[in-house]
Amino acid sequence: MSAPTADDLRARVRALLAENDPKTVARLDFLRARFDAGLAWVHFPAGLGGLDAPRSLQSVVDAELAEAGAPDNSPRQIVIGLGMAAPTILRFGTPEHHRRYLRPLWTGEEVWCQLFSEPGAGSDLAALGTKAVRDGNGGTPANGGVAGGGDWVVTGQKVWTSGAHLARFAILVTRTDPDVPKHQGMTYFVCDMSAPGVEVRPLRQITGEAEFNEVFLSEVRIPDSQRLGAVGEGWKVAQTTLMNERVAIGGTPMPREGGLLGPVAEAWREHPERRTPELHDRLLKLWVEAETLGLASSRLRQQLTAGQPGPEGSVMKLAFAELNQALSGLEVELHAEQGLVYDDWTMRRPVHIDFAARGPGYRYLRAKGNSIEGGTSEVLRNIVAERVLGLPSEPRVDKDVAWKDLPK
Ligand SMILES: Cc1cc2nc3c(=O)[nH]c(=O)nc-3n(C[C@H](O)[C@H](O)[C@H](O)COP(=O)(O)OP(=O)(O)OC[C@H]3O[C@@H](n4cnc5c(N)ncnc54)[C@H](O)[C@@H]3O)c2cc1C
Repeated sequence: MSAPTADDLRARVRALLAENDPKTVARLDFLRARFDAGLAWVHFPAGLGGLDAPRSLQSVVDAELAEAGAPDNSPRQIVIGLGMAAPTILRFGTPEHHRRYLRPLWTGEEVWCQLFSEPGAGSDLAALGTKAVRDGNGGTPANGGVAGGGDWVVTGQKVWTSGAHLARFAILVTRTDPDVPKHQGMTYFVCDMSAPGVEVRPLRQITGEAEFNEVFLSEVRIPDSQRLGAVGEGWKVAQTTLMNERVAIGGTPMPREGGLLGPVAEAWREHPERRTPELHDRLLKLWVEAETLGLASSRLRQQLTAGQPGPEGSVMKLAFAELNQALSGLEVELHAEQGLVYDDWTMRRPVHIDFAARGPGYRYLRAKGNSIEGGTSEVLRNIVAERVLGLPSEPRVDKDVAWKDLPK
């Protein structure tokens, strides 16, 4: 069967709206019906919220539904589920995983978090030490295990876990074989955050709020059926997550004067007395960069219609972080002394990061995290150098050394 066209999708949207009037149907019921109609993420397979349509046609569906006043699934609040967990589950999960997780993930009924970073394994994620030990003979020969039943028992510590306090499930990378080099001995799981042994503790950050957490895993039992990918191939699975993460962070569509350019332009208009030629030059330069980034980001989304995200996503994430920091710095300057006044240090646990809802001081401090979260700018530069520009790799002395013999 040929892929649906834009007109086919418009007809499906009309049918969805005819049966589910957004004015009378409850939000969650509408979202579930939208998923079941294949209009959630149209490029996903039929039966899993999509129609095997080109990804580019999602904007047609979104525009029609927005015009009809239909509720959305709050993508900014469930970004880890949508951006990181879903593509990984789709690619490496079993049909049972697809059936169980994708619908409540997309509707936002179940929030996801990402248990990757550890105190000694952030940029060098493959160094992680949270161990998963098999208890019994779980799995089947076909999926890399031994016939029988059995759980994995997971013990370790994760850090900087955004939204862990809200999450029902996590994507989790663990060490299952310390005797082989670090990239080879990892295994990837879905972790139930309500399982005994999972403890979530808030971590306050430079803004005063606690978006993220430390997560302690003490003998958490995970059934082998919750494994994504083969035993020992967690690095390969994690690569899919990380590539998608960079696109999710750096590839969001930006309207004209959108993002942090908006408040900077506003401050410029409001305070003509503070304008200087130097500030004028900086503003124009950043404006051009923001526009260029917006265009490059649409090109990246077009490329995505042709397949999986590649290392180009790292360029976008890097550029997005630098632009945000430059714009938030300029905004603070345009507000003169007032720009240094912080609006509120009350401990908050935000559900999502809303740069627009707070003052210039908040934007300035929060933008610092943009060059760390989802991979630091330094590490992304390495990826761009090696995998986009084809420059020689960094020397890797630990490539053939067993993880247990690495200096810790
Ligand atoms: C707001 C926020 C939210 C986050 N949310 C999550 C989350 O939900 N889940 C999760 O798992 N993690 C999360 N993280 C963690 C994030 O992915 C890590 O902080 C990041 O990967 C960096 O790791 P690190 O902090 O251990 O720093 P390190 O890896 O210790 O790096 C320290 C410094 O050394 C530099 N460096 C390291 N290696 C190299 C190299 N090879 N070449 C050049 N420079 C290098 C780094 O760039 C950095 O400047 C979050 C972080 C932030 C700030």
